[in-house]
Amino acid sequence: MNYAVVLCRVATIAATGLLLAQPAFADERKDEAFRIIDRNADTVAQIGDAVYAYAELGMQEVKSTQLLKDTLEAAGFSVEMGGAGMPTNLWAKWGSGKPVIAISTEIDALPEGSQTPGSIARKPVVPGAPGHMEGHNTHAGVATAAAFAVKTIMERDKLPGTLIISFGPAEEQLISRPFLVRAGYFKDVDAAFILHIGDNLSTGYGLQNYAAISAKFTFHGKTAHGANNPWDGRDAVDAVELMDIGFDKLREHMRPTYRAHRTITMGGIQPNIIADLGQIWWYVRDANAPAAKENFDRLVNVGKGAAMMTGTTMDPPEFVASAWPQLGNKVLSEQIRKNMEMVGLPTWSAEEVAFAKELQKANNKPEVGLATALPTVTARPQGTASNDNGDVTWVVPTGMMNFPSSVPGIGYHAWPAAITPTSTMAHKGMVTGAKVLAASLLDAVTTPALLQNARKEFTEATKESPYFTLLPAEAKPPVDMNKATMDQFAPALSKTYLSVSPRFK
Ligand SMILES: [Zn+2]
Repeated sequence: MNYAVVLCRVATIAATGLLLAQPAFADERKDEAFRIIDRNADTVAQIGDAVYAYAELGMQEVKSTQLLKDTLEAAGFSVEMGGAGMPTNLWAKWGSGKPVIAISTEIDALPEGSQTPGSIARKPVVPGAPGHMEGHNTHAGVATAAAFAVKTIMERDKLPGTLIISFGPAEEQLISRPFLVRAGYFKDVDAAFILHIGDNLSTGYGLQNYAAISAKFTFHGKTAHGANNPWDGRDAVDAVELMDIGFDKLREHMRPTYRAHRTITMGGIQPNIIADLGQIWWYVRDANAPAAKENFDRLVNVGKGAAMMTGTTMDPPEFVASAWPQLGNKVLSEQIRKNMEMVGLPTWSAEEVAFAKELQKANNKPEVGLATALPTVTARPQGTASNDNGDVTWVVPTGMMNFPSSVPGIGYHAWPAAITPTSTMAHKGMVTGAKVLAASLLDAVTTPALLQNARKEFTEATKESPYFTLLPAEAKPPVDMNKATMDQFAPALSKTYLSVSPRFK
């Protein structure tokens, strides 16, 4: 950052009245945080690259969290593993007292995402193995570096407050945050920051996406020979079909905002055996959590009706996942945006831009290269997908930020997105993201008025729809999820693990 700009900014703040109690200190602190992050740029990259190589699916982030635990403990944080009944849940803490400021993010990979970094042609590191084709590996470096920089300054200046870093398991399956919230993890937190890889520095506020509930419905019937004595059979697959048709009849009478999709996961064995077991797996969503819950309750009734019609029985719905829509706090978002303007985008090399264009061309996308200006619009429209971090945003005022570590036009959840999360482009984006996050954390720690305003907005925004858990009382996190896949692929993947012990200095 340019020193003249610093002076100018201090003067403006001093002249216009004083959200920041000590503006000169605030700017000096941010500059110092940026210096700390710059001198740890190699460590930031190392963390991201090591987590990329582990390529661990949700609930199996064992090596990734071990690396982060070691790094954070060496940096002075205390680290709890296994919270809320999830062995790979990492909850790190430093400091004491108020305010309590949390970073909430994730580090899981995706099935069949294995790809050789830098290869535009399809070339898995290990065929069929998982891989980071969304770039959650980059989140690890950004979150830890920002927290380390802020901790260093809080120590230096003896600032009161507590920093939390939460790496929640299995974001890709929408699993962990409802369990963390139910276990009370966020109840003392004053403000939270959610970070995610993106193709630019961006933030958003208001409802960002959809509420979702996912559950499996299992029907039990009675087998019989399909030709000799079908009247003795009760067909569980008939119940599955009638549940599907029954819900289709409801669609006309649902809010236009709803989404519902399903797959038949058990559909019988062969036609001449009446199926005694059938199963259908549903997702229902809507623009808010109460509406999603209402859709889900209607779905359960359709299932009960299908069982009654077919003389079969239906198990209680087997809960898989749920999420509230993410609610971005405008006060925090605007502060994040100011920090984005202060930090600015990375300076990309000619090689990085050329590679981005080559990748875009190979994927039939406009050859626009990499982001060179911040988005002009700061608000984002509500999307229809879901993220389990949504639950956090309804119990804590939450700011959201994306950082520029992926290539514009290259969509996530597809292997081309696994080509670049260890590139120099990704590394630069991570350093930039860490600076924005550190500056925003410093604002939260040192500016009571910011937290008060964020809380006021939060109270107003959640008044009409107070948080309730979408988890059934008996729901437990599926801790064995993805274990078989990781057991299958980890030995081959281990050949590419980096032997590093990242340490901040
Ligand atoms: Zn993600």
